[in-house]
Amino acid sequence: MEDEKPVVWDAHSCLPIEADVTFGNLDRHRAVGFDFVSVNVAMDMTPLESTLKAIAYFRECIRYNSGKYMLATTVADVETAKRTGRLAISFDIEGAECLLGRPEMVGLYADLGVRQMHLAYNLNNAYAGGCHDNDGGLTELGRAVVEAANHYGVTMDCSHSGHRSSLEIMELSSKPVVFSHSNPLALAESKRNITDEQILACASTGGVVGICGYSRFLGAIPSTGEDMARHIDYVAKLAGVEHVGIGWDYTYPHEGIELAASAGEYRKYFIDATMNEDEGVSDNDAYTPLEHRTVICDALEGMGYGSAEIDHIMGGNFLRVARESWPPQATTRAS
Ligand SMILES: [Zn+2]
Repeated sequence: MEDEKPVVWDAHSCLPIEADVTFGNLDRHRAVGFDFVSVNVAMDMTPLESTLKAIAYFRECIRYNSGKYMLATTVADVETAKRTGRLAISFDIEGAECLLGRPEMVGLYADLGVRQMHLAYNLNNAYAGGCHDNDGGLTELGRAVVEAANHYGVTMDCSHSGHRSSLEIMELSSKPVVFSHSNPLALAESKRNITDEQILACASTGGVVGICGYSRFLGAIPSTGEDMARHIDYVAKLAGVEHVGIGWDYTYPHEGIELAASAGEYRKYFIDATMNEDEGVSDNDAYTPLEHRTVICDALEGMGYGSAEIDHIMGGNFLRVARESWPPQATTRAS
């Protein structure tokens, strides 16, 4: 039916990247009204063993709980999950280190449920420049990975890329490119926030900027749904309401899981990012609570946005990107 509400979409949130973590924490996403969430399975500092165990374990959790979750590898899967009251889940990778220098590895990860990826995570790597580093732009290998991502139906994501690399990725990609979890620099100072030029370039690819609920990137500690609405409004006014969505970046408890081979290795990725450190911010204040999702809708309504526009912001825009960049049919099935 045409009048059916579009899906409510979170373009990026995080569980600890390991086996045996509390996958059921994602029920909170469902409880606050999300129909879809992209869960990350790798950052550039994540040991490959942890990534592989997390992918296998997350897939098992989805399979064993098929009454409430569904691995979404196509837009039709997302729509089926919504219709049957389940949370649709796909995976994303934050940095190309897990490709081991092989662009065709994008196809392997795509077969396992990855639908969105970065080239670099904050620091430069063999593929591209990071947003906390001296960005030298895309390498030949990075260009080959963008082409592979376009081919395999994995959406390119520039959230942790450097300024120059992000513009080069958006120039090269034949499919819409997203910033799955990035906020406008004009509203809050952070190396992770993006310039008007980047926002407009993203829109010109047909892409979407997902406003993230990380308090530091919103410039408000603690932050609320009103703060997220303020950032949404900025992108909507600059680039158009069809180019903004939600990528909450909500991080469920780490459960003692190390995010890298060592604490020093992890910190290296944030060493030049004083705005990104959690230090001095309590766990409760680090993110806008997920329960503020409806506060965002109310705030947007108060700013004069119509219900159709709010539906697009809440999920319709990212669904459009998926329709234009994901494979039309599944390559392999979850079970
Ligand atoms: Zn991230």
